[in-house]
Amino acid sequence: MRIVLLGAPGSGKGTQAHRLAERSGIPQISTGDLLRAAVARGTPLGLEAKAVMESGGLVDDALVLGMIRERLAEPDARAGFVLDGFPRNLVQAAALDGLLAELRQPLDAVVQLEVDPAELVRRISGRRSCADCGRVFNVLTSPPPSGAAAICPKTGAPHRLIQRPDDNEATVAERLRVYEEKTRPLIAFYQSRGLLRVIDAEGGLDAVTQRLAQALAAPAAARPRRAAARKRASRRKPARTAGRRRPTARAAKRRPASRKAPARAARKKRAGSPRARKAARRRTRR
Ligand code: AMP
Repeated sequence: MRIVLLGAPGSGKGTQAHRLAERSGIPQISTGDLLRAAVARGTPLGLEAKAVMESGGLVDDALVLGMIRERLAEPDARAGFVLDGFPRNLVQAAALDGLLAELRQPLDAVVQLEVDPAELVRRISGRRSCADCGRVFNVLTSPPPSGAAAICPKTGAPHRLIQRPDDNEATVAERLRVYEEKTRPLIAFYQSRGLLRVIDAEGGLDAVTQRLAQALAAPAAARPRRAAARKRASRRKPARTAGRRRPTARAAKRRPASRKAPARAARKKRAGSPRARKAARRRTRR
């Protein structure tokens, strides 16, 4: 299963991608997580990305594409993947198309998670993540559980909750603006490819997980008529190029009469009738 989750910051892509990946036994690939890891390690890529991430902008396409290309080449991605936070603009979407065509691993579905803007801001303000394992919680909507689930799998101690530096009010506003301008056009991009499903991502986590599973089980919404017709027309090939032979003269004789044939035969019969011959003689005499 090769899936892209689309949605604004705070729409729950990360949480739902994590659940879907666990359930399906495939990796969740989040460019945000990969970039944060590079920042934390202080790699050259991380150093370049840090300032842009803190401003709420998009990291350079070439950097992100290089990172994704490497990640998709890892063995665990052969069974499938859930992409979260990538692609983020049309250049990245076209590059992903090309890369997956090269790997002969086309996408199966793209799911857009729809959330009201006011709810997005509320969710982001309550978001906290574990500084050690990166697991995401929300102090307003899904607080860290008690018991064994409260223990960080990396340290064996309770999760250490921190707020992401780019989850502050000013940066969030910029991230939402960038989403509308650069990422929202991907909805039409994937709709025209017949891959898009849209779900209501408000409400409880489990309800959204269920809607996501249903959306993935259902066929994609019909693509817009004009795009579908263009695609059908481009698929139609003349008999020869489609590998079909032209019928031989004998085969043509054996062919059943076309639907037009009876009408043609009736015209011929009328033309040969005594009444028709008489009318024709009268016309030539005039
Ligand atoms: P996220 O965790 O997906 O919200 O991403 C956090 C930040 O990382 C974004 O605001 C961007 O600055 C950067 N980022 C993540 N994914 C991408 C991407 N595909 N292209 C460019 N920048 C990205």
